[in-house]
Order: sequence, then structure tokens, then C-alpha cells
Amino acid sequence: MQKFFRFSFIFICCLLSGSAAAKISWHSWVVNLRKEAIHQGINPVLFDRVFQNMRPSAKHIRLDRTQPEKRLTYYEYRDTRADAYRIKMGQKELKKHQDLLNKVGKDFEVNPCVIASLWGLESSYGHFMGQFNVIQSLATLAYDGRRSDFFRKQLLLALHMLDEGHVTYQDFKGEWAGASGQPQFLPSSFYQYAIDYDGDGKKDIWKNYGDIFASIANYLKQNGWEYKQPILITTRLIPEFDHTLIGIKIIKPYQEWLNLGARPSTNRYINPNAAASIIELTGGPIWIVFNNFKSLMKWNHSTYYAGTVTYMAQKICQTSPY
Ligand code: CA
Repeated sequence: MQKFFRFSFIFICCLLSGSAAAKISWHSWVVNLRKEAIHQGINPVLFDRVFQNMRPSAKHIRLDRTQPEKRLTYYEYRDTRADAYRIKMGQKELKKHQDLLNKVGKDFEVNPCVIASLWGLESSYGHFMGQFNVIQSLATLAYDGRRSDFFRKQLLLALHMLDEGHVTYQDFKGEWAGASGQPQFLPSSFYQYAIDYDGDGKKDIWKNYGDIFASIANYLKQNGWEYKQPILITTRLIPEFDHTLIGIKIIKPYQEWLNLGARPSTNRYINPNAAASIIELTGGPIWIVFNNFKSLMKWNHSTYYAGTVTYMAQKICQTSPY
């Protein structure tokens, strides 16, 4: 009997100490957050209204702890995201917003097909921005303790977004980890990249197309987009090619890759001095990738994602995106 109690005691102890949430009650945590928020200039009335009936969500913790690990081939990944329907929809949306996309593309010196492609991949052109309450998502993840510091910072920035009136509390919905709006920005990306393109004082990445397109373009611009330069080209490698040179971190001028045995599938002129790497993806394709590919990887650190953006841009515009 005694043994059983001792065991139970240890068991409960471990359960509690394994969760940061158990160290401090939700109520105390909110009181603490309130102090910090007010110190940062957030309106206490707004804070109290938002947190009045707020509770952490068990669903978020489950989602955060069961992220999929399955390794897909590039083509499996690409074809589930850039499927025929999404491409067709993109062609329609492009026609609808062609003038604005072209104007933003010129102003920011970013390819408008790539802007449309990112828009389509992130939120299906604004049709699926996510249904989770952003403040609740971020508060839950900040309170949970696994990545508290990161999510607490995002949460405080999200409160600033509300306080500054860029979005209403009702419209502030997103995916479960706090990305929101048509470009699916986290609050930190919002403050780094969002643009008030129509000049009405709000960076409205939820409803205003000018603000949405300009924010996407600005993200790429700030991350080194080179106007009218290539993103990637498919290549063959001669049998003697040294495969240890394959990798995103190995950078050489384009001409040097040709000399080493890359045989690209294009006759287009490419600057022989353009910085490039050669990568091979699971499932087959071998690409020469340029700085613009790396700009896309700043958006989402995945070669699959950057490749899919490029593919869908090409499909939407029915021309190579550079
Ligand atoms: Ca605006």
C-alpha cells in the first residue's frame, strides 16, 4: 500500500513538472501577461475585453504535439498543394487582379505570377485563412511551455496589431499556430513585412488586395528577390559529374556549373556569373537554383515549397516566371 502511494506521488509529481502550465495557473499567467502588455503600451481595456472569457485550447496542444513527419517525394508534395483546381482558380484570380498584381510587381520589382502563386498556396487566394482565434492560439501555445518565449512574443505583437486597428478581433482568425491573413503571416512577419499599399492607415492583409499583394512582394523584396532573374531551371548532369557538389550551400557561378557538367533544359540566356547551386529532390528532379529560390526559402524553409511556388507561378501565368 505504502509503495503504491509513493509510486503515485512520484507519478503525479512528474506529470505536473513535465508541463509548464502546471507551474502557474492560467489566471496568474494572464495577470502577468497583462502587466507586460500594458507596459508595452497596449490599451488595458482592449486587453481585458480580449481575455475576459479566454481559456487555453486543448486542441492546439494536441496539434502542436502531433505534427506530421511523413516524408513525401517532391511530386507528391507539389501535386497535393498545386493541384489542378488551385491552378485553374489561380488563372481566374490572376485575370481578376491582373492590373493590381502588375502594378505591385513593378513597384516592388517582384514577379506578379510569384505573388499570385504564394497567395494561392498560403490561403487559396483568400478563401481559406484558417478558423482559429489567433489570440487564443498564441496564448495557448505561449502558456503551454514548449516554445513559450517564441509564442509569447508573437502574442504580444498580435495584441499590438489589434490595438493599432489593423484587424478586428472578430476577423483575427488564422491557422492553429497563429499565422493569419491572406499571406498567412505570423505577427512578427506582419510587423516586418506588411504594407499599407492603399494608404488608409491599416495594413489590412485580410481584406485589402493592394495591401495583401504588396505585403507578399515586400517579403520577397526584403529577402533578396532579384527582379527578372531566374528562380530555378531543371538540369541533367553528365555521368562524370561530381555528386558531392550537390547541395544548396555549394554556390558557384552559373557558367562554372556548365563547365562541371550541368546540362540545363533551357536555351534562355542566363547571366554566366549568376550565383547558383545544384540540388536534387527526393523523387527525381535536379535543379540549378538561383538567389530567387533562396528568397522563396526565406518564406518557408523548404526546397519542396520553393519549387512548388515556382511551378504554380508558371502554371498560373502559363509562362516561365522570369
Ligand atoms: Ca491599407
